[in-house]
Amino acid sequence: MPIDDEQNRHEIVDNSIPAESAAGNAALGSRFDQMFPVLSETEIGRVRRFGEVKRFPAGAFLFQAGEAVSGMYVILSGRVAIVPRDGLGQSVSVAAFAQLIGAPVEEMAEVVPGEVIAEIGQLSGRPDLSVIDARAVGDVEAIVVPMEALRALLVAEAELGERILRALILRRVAQIELGFGGPVLVGSLKSPDVTRLSHFLERNAIPFRVVDPDADRDASALLARFAPNQDELPIAVLSNGTVLKNPTKQELARALGLMATSFRADAYDVVIVGAGPAGLATAVYAASEGLGVLVLEAVAFGGQAGASARIENYLGFPTGVSGQALMGRAFTQAQKFGVEFSLSTEVTRLDCTSERSGHDPVHILELGDGRRVRARTVVVATGARYRRPDIPNLAQFEGRGVSYWASPVEARLCRNEEVALLGGGNSAGQAAVFLASHARHVRVLVRGLGLSSTMSRYLIERIEGAANITVLAETEIVELFGTPDVGLQGVRWRNRRTGAEEHHAIAHLFLFTGADPVAAWLDGCGVPIDEKGFIRTGPNAGSSERSPLPLETGVDGIFAVGDVRCGSVKRVGAAIGEGAAVVAQLHTFLARRIDRVDAPRAGRADDRSRDRRTREPRR
Ligand SMILES: Cc1cc2nc3c(=O)[nH]c(=O)nc-3n(C[C@H](O)[C@H](O)[C@H](O)COP(=O)(O)OP(=O)(O)OC[C@H]3O[C@@H](n4cnc5c(N)ncnc54)[C@H](O)[C@@H]3O)c2cc1C
Repeated sequence: MPIDDEQNRHEIVDNSIPAESAAGNAALGSRFDQMFPVLSETEIGRVRRFGEVKRFPAGAFLFQAGEAVSGMYVILSGRVAIVPRDGLGQSVSVAAFAQLIGAPVEEMAEVVPGEVIAEIGQLSGRPDLSVIDARAVGDVEAIVVPMEALRALLVAEAELGERILRALILRRVAQIELGFGGPVLVGSLKSPDVTRLSHFLERNAIPFRVVDPDADRDASALLARFAPNQDELPIAVLSNGTVLKNPTKQELARALGLMATSFRADAYDVVIVGAGPAGLATAVYAASEGLGVLVLEAVAFGGQAGASARIENYLGFPTGVSGQALMGRAFTQAQKFGVEFSLSTEVTRLDCTSERSGHDPVHILELGDGRRVRARTVVVATGARYRRPDIPNLAQFEGRGVSYWASPVEARLCRNEEVALLGGGNSAGQAAVFLASHARHVRVLVRGLGLSSTMSRYLIERIEGAANITVLAETEIVELFGTPDVGLQGVRWRNRRTGAEEHHAIAHLFLFTGADPVAAWLDGCGVPIDEKGFIRTGPNAGSSERSPLPLETGVDGIFAVGDVRCGSVKRVGAAIGEGAAVVAQLHTFLARRIDRVDAPRAGRADDRSRDRRTREPRR
């Protein structure tokens, strides 16, 4: 199973690389020195105080593929041979990696003094499963920096930290491009379950590879052994050899360590629900200002923004940036500051009453798997969820030809084919432009008279300039055709003015018909909402007993930011701004609370604790 078999490679995903050099091997090639820096003596001296020196005799493994690696290695003397292995235990040629980044193979196969062996996943604070064997060629001496200390190093040593972090990000991007280092999905490229899992892994920036048994004899032999029944397909083979049969997203997330296995028993200063731009911004600012932060996210980091092919109006990115790239950076940044994350973890209910009295009142969040988390403050950043238009038998084709986003996974599936897209807003426009560079023809169906009142001018101009995009105004979808096995095969639409109907053989339909706020999980808590379900905050919260802070709801200590908030501007920049702004209000709330808790115990105030929670935000 060669790693660079064109048929088996999944699409290139740019998850973290800077926008200006986002796609392509040439970009990575020019960054070889950044990807594999050799630290100077002075830099190595700085690393020393964060770790301890260990010795490995010739032939010993520093660690092996599939083992949990719990730190960064900086080689002081000797050389370390690197052998990448895939989840099937087979060694993968270093040549493919070297070719991708345009480096000599010899330079890739061995790590020399001054070089760093580490993985971006280690920033999560959980041991990461190695995808390489690292073996001492001669006697080797290395500084081993444990995970906690690695985060401390990245924060305390700004310039050195930036060099190391950049190297780890670029290595992850190269891994994603090669599909090397994460799970191997064995199943048909056309299977909806392969698409479902591919999409999940891509959104979580996990490198992965799809091996189609129809094109690979080894893979079909593997399936015969592990998953003889059709309903067990696809299988996911992890780097430690674990085999999951047609896993749910949660099962895969748990096996990959994306979902936290435990939470603190005492209350977090702040629990943020949702890891879109608003939640991630709150996390970065809160953790960098010393608060204990947990982020709970139902699916993957990035939220709606993560589904955006190209954001062109975000300040500071004149050539645009993919939503995944922007959000990938924010996720890494939050981890650097010590934010705890639990992805694939849905909050199903907020219990606002059971521990609201006494000296240290807290809110309790109930999770989908029955676990409970305690929080002094809660920031609701659950955004909005796509709306399902009223089309008969729509549900039957979701994930089988009907999509609510257009990522590289979907683009691969509709290469050189006809696609239809319903919606006239900016997200529809971005998707149409993105899909036009993959599909043969994109038909954009809009209910209104045209795009001018709903879409930004720059997107309309791009659509007008694309030879393979057709806009059909005053049009609605009437019926979908296909079978559960094959999926969508045809779409019938109607002109609303003339009543004329057309049937087209189309297997890919994209729906961008707006979104509704995600706030139902707060029902019963007394959090005020408007007539459309958006959460009211500040003066709008209508609390008669107290004056909520500007981003606080009518319930003490519950804040709301981003798209879920009534009156917010539904933009990435606005969501990030609200995330930054709410942190000052969390400090204010926590400071008042400490004053209340301390008041009855006058003279026994814990000044250190007070200082920690009330200090002015860092600039
Ligand atoms: C395709 C597309 C393109 C876009 N393009 C642009 C653009 O070019 N420029 C621009 O400014 N804006 C754009 N937007 C809008 C922008 O993405 C949103 O305004 C922004 O993402 C809102 O951020 P948010 O953090 O408030 O919410 P969201 O991004 O919606 O994130 C909310 C998060 O909360 C999670 N969540 C929900 N419920 C729960 C729960 N119960 N438990 C745990 N987690 C939960 C969700 O899974 C999600 O990850 C685009 C949107 C889309 C869909």
